[in-house]
Amino acid sequence: MLPLDSHRWGELRHAYGGASDAPDMIRRLVQASSDEAWDELFGYLLHQGDTYTATYAAVPHLLQAAREQSAGKQVLYWSFVGGVAVHEAPTELAADIRTAYHQALEVGRESLRQLLESHRFPTIEAFYLLEAAAALHGRREIAWALGGLANEEIELECPSCAVGLSIGPDRTGLRYRVRGLDIAGAPSVPPTRIEVAPTHIAPTKSACSDYRWLFGLASSQGDARVLHGVRALFGKGPCPHCNAAIDINKAIDEPRTRGTRLER
Ligand SMILES: [Zn+2]
Repeated sequence: MLPLDSHRWGELRHAYGGASDAPDMIRRLVQASSDEAWDELFGYLLHQGDTYTATYAAVPHLLQAAREQSAGKQVLYWSFVGGVAVHEAPTELAADIRTAYHQALEVGRESLRQLLESHRFPTIEAFYLLEAAAALHGRREIAWALGGLANEEIELECPSCAVGLSIGPDRTGLRYRVRGLDIAGAPSVPPTRIEVAPTHIAPTKSACSDYRWLFGLASSQGDARVLHGVRALFGKGPCPHCNAAIDINKAIDEPRTRGTRLER
C-alpha cells in the first residue's frame, strides 16, 4: 500500500483537490477516532458517496487500522470501507494502488466475517456491519437494503404497478410490512405483511446462495431483529396497491441500475 509519507499522495485527489493532506487525516483518525476525524474523512474521501483516487489509497490503511481497534470501535471503519465498495466507480488509478485496494478488500472480507462471528453488536451496528459485508462482496443492492433496515425503512417500487413502496418493521421489529407511499387518493390503504423467508430454502432457488450466506452471518449475532430483517429481505409480500406478490429480493435488485465497478 502507498506509505503515508509518500509524496505521491499529492498527485492523488479528494473532494477538495490535491490529497497531500490525506495522510494526516488518516493519522488523526487512527490516533483519536473522534467524531471530527470521521467527519473529515467522510467529507474529503467519500463526499456524498463520491470516491476519489485518494479514497482507494486510503482503504488499505483504514482496514489495517480497524484490526487494531476494539470490536466496538471498528464499526465506522467498516462503514467507511463498505461505503467505498458500494460507490466504487471507474477511476484512473496507478496499478500498485489498485492492487493494494483490491487485496485489502479481500483480506477485509475475511476479517469482517471473523468480527461478526466473534462479537455481538447492537442491532443497528449489526445491520451496518452486514451492509459493509455485502458491499465488500460486491452485492450492492443487498448492501443498500441492509442500510435501509438499519434506518428502519427501504424504499422501492412495486415491480408490477410501479407505485412507491416502503418496507419497514412494526413496533416489535420482528414483523415486516409493505406500505404504499404514493397511492393516489388512498392514503389509508393498510400495509401488507411480508412473509419472511424460511430459515432453510431449497438450493435450487435463485438468490439462495446470497440468502444462506447472509443468514449465516446474521445468525452469528444472535439478534432476532437482525435475523428477521434479513429474512424479510428474501421474503414475499403483496403490493398494497395492486396486490401482486412481490419477491422482495428481486424488487430490490430490479429498479437499481448496477453501477460500473472499479476495474480490477
Ligand atoms: Zn403494485
